[in-house]
Amino acid sequence: MDEFISITHDADTHPTYDPQRHTDQCWLCGRGLTARAAERGWWVHMTVDLTIAPVDLPEQDWPAGVESQGWFPVGNECAKKIPKTHRAK
Ligand SMILES: [Zn+2]
Repeated sequence: MDEFISITHDADTHPTYDPQRHTDQCWLCGRGLTARAAERGWWVHMTVDLTIAPVDLPEQDWPAGVESQGWFPVGNECAKKIPKTHRAK
């Protein structure tokens, strides 16, 4: 699957979610992740449009106009909602 996908993310509704601190919170649910959990867990490659890039598609091969917003961590449970083609450890 080489498509950019959209996943519903509810992090904004989590009471302690802070978008400025996304590297230690699950992007899907907003729950906190310890640095160790994030480091060993799943990450998704986010575009500025909040779609998730297929991990096998190098950024230089992305369509024109699609820009990276960096990698965001996702907790183990939430990772199950994301196709394996779109998450990486
Ligand atoms: Zn989560």
